[in-house]
Amino acid sequence: MKKVRTSISLCIAATILLSSCAVKTENKEMKSSTQAETSLKTAKEEALDYNNQGAWKQVSGEMQSPINIKTSKVENLEDDGKIETYYDQSITKAENNGHSIQVGDSGYAQINGRSFALVQFHFHAQSEHTIDGKHFPLEVHFVNQAQDGRLAVIAVFFEEGEENKGFQEVLDDVNNNSNNPITNINTMIPQNMSYYHYIGSLTTPPLTENVEWYIMKNTVTASKEQITQFKKLYRHNNRKIQALNGRSVLLHNE
Ligand SMILES: [Zn+2]
Repeated sequence: MKKVRTSISLCIAATILLSSCAVKTENKEMKSSTQAETSLKTAKEEALDYNNQGAWKQVSGEMQSPINIKTSKVENLEDDGKIETYYDQSITKAENNGHSIQVGDSGYAQINGRSFALVQFHFHAQSEHTIDGKHFPLEVHFVNQAQDGRLAVIAVFFEEGEENKGFQEVLDDVNNNSNNPITNINTMIPQNMSYYHYIGSLTTPPLTENVEWYIMKNTVTASKEQITQFKKLYRHNNRKIQALNGRSVLLHNE
């Protein structure tokens, strides 16, 4: 009887071990697909040299990001294609390492009827995408992931203008090395969510493709001081413009 009990408990222990491993692996995979778009502060990312982008390892090559959007060449999106964000007003479970704000269970985006959970958001200076060849001083990427693993990035350009409350909260956290909640995420998303859409890639290695991009047509603002502050902290971290290779860019107007 004792023997049986031991083997049962061993079996249970093994099951627990196995399942916890499985969960770990799953998390790891989820992380690795989003980690690329994350921190400049991790050891791995510190090696990322924006002055030598030709040396970045690339897993695939014909559908890369960022791109220049030629507004005269965009095609109108035929289906409804509405985006609605249901991000938490106060992101409390955020890990702010400065370049990237990793969030946990902080809401989702509804894109053309499909649901994508917000995984993290981060910034690039100057902007990675360009509109008719024009860069913006700053671009935020909200990285969202569907249950099946598919990534959708909502990108918003910042123009120089009024101070941005949400962005200030991010800067304050970095400067004070704190993790205070981000309570004004909506100041970093335009009210009118008209957008350009195309299929591209992550913009940092492994540069994985089949990422859905939604580039907001309308901008938000940040003050000159805020932009200067960010640039002091993170130098330039924008990947070069990549070839379109025949891809179409669609426009959805609200
Ligand atoms: Zn990015």
